[in-house]
Amino acid sequence: MNRVGIGVDVHQFAAGRKLILGGVELSHDRGLVGHSDADVLAHAVADALLGAAALGDIGKFYPDTDMKWKDLDSMVILDDIAERFGRLQARINNIDATVIAQEPKLAPQIPAMQRVMAGHLKIEPAQLGVKATTSEWLGFTGRKEGILAVAVASVELEPC
Ligand SMILES: [Zn+2]
Repeated sequence: MNRVGIGVDVHQFAAGRKLILGGVELSHDRGLVGHSDADVLAHAVADALLGAAALGDIGKFYPDTDMKWKDLDSMVILDDIAERFGRLQARINNIDATVIAQEPKLAPQIPAMQRVMAGHLKIEPAQLGVKATTSEWLGFTGRKEGILAVAVASVELEPC
């Protein structure tokens, strides 16, 4: 049975933080704030996958009230989802994600993000689309206050 899921995530910029998107550290004067490494793209992808399997969201599995997940490398979340999907015999068809950020320019790093996230999810990079756009200087992303990421996932699930 084919299922789709959606994931949306937002994190705020702050000085003195690393900027990590799709498991790739980017060079930028600011990074994103969060309990984990604040990888907004990985979180949107994770929520799309969990949503497709109707499992809930990452807040349920990796609550930001739990010190265990403090500064968590979000690739651990993708590893965990790949394992969960293995147990459920769920197969990822494809994922498509868009990052909305006024800065920095993401295009040069997109192939690396696809490769890294696909590796953790045990799929091919061609099954994981990543796109980047700006919001034309409008809203919180346009004011460079933060980054928004949206993802959809198509998953093949065994009928229950
Ligand atoms: Zn997040």
